[in-house]
Amino acid sequence: MRRKLLLGNWKMNKLASEAKEFAVASRDLAKKAEANNIDLGVAPTYLSLATVKENAAKTMIVAAQNVHFNDHGAFTGEVSIPMLKEFGIDWVLIGHSERRTYDNETNEKCNAKIKALIANNMVPVYCVGETLEQFEANQTKAVVGEQVRVGLKELTAEDVKNLVVAYEPVWSIGTGKNASTEIAEDVCKFIRDVLREMFGDVADEIRVLYGGSVKPENIKAYLSCPDVDGGLVGGASLKIDSYEALLNNIL
Ligand code: PEP
Repeated sequence: MRRKLLLGNWKMNKLASEAKEFAVASRDLAKKAEANNIDLGVAPTYLSLATVKENAAKTMIVAAQNVHFNDHGAFTGEVSIPMLKEFGIDWVLIGHSERRTYDNETNEKCNAKIKALIANNMVPVYCVGETLEQFEANQTKAVVGEQVRVGLKELTAEDVKNLVVAYEPVWSIGTGKNASTEIAEDVCKFIRDVLREMFGDVADEIRVLYGGSVKPENIKAYLSCPDVDGGLVGGASLKIDSYEALLNNIL
């Protein structure tokens, strides 16, 4: 049985003081989520990770939005796995479409990061999804299949058992344009089929999330799809009231 997962991606939003306020306000929600067998989390900016970790409930997942695959060295502007671990951070988003678009995050680079995270017993949330152009050219499964195969190459079934994959069609992120629940289920099921082909039955344990303009009003419909195990939510996770409504609507 896969536990539901609701993960907020704050992107480049919130001052550390605002992140702290949210973390304190989220304590009761984390309790409610735990009592209902739901994993709840947020991915703040690097500068807010420590304060969110310190001020949120112990059960709250606190994820970084990126990491470098080397432990240390001459990589100006980067942050490494040991640096995150020192703050108790063990979840990281990898390959978000904004990083793929603006920071040249390739499938190969994602693979190096995912391997480094897994070697350090951390949980990668591997984001995949097609652009509008690819969607319109009917290339969704070719693109997403390649992202999954290359991003997860040279890993074993044991390696991927805690991995999370997030299907986020690029054309639906921050645009208010939702993929229908049929599309979300079809692609999330396809991802699980590729995972099964690569790793066998462990595919049934891997959580596959949907992301892209998820809101309190539509989250329940997505999570009613058999292969959608949760949501990766940007805009609607920023305000505590809306975050609470997302949670309440999937209890
Ligand atoms: C995201 O940032 O991963 C995302 C899905 O954003 P939004 O919910 O705002 O579309």
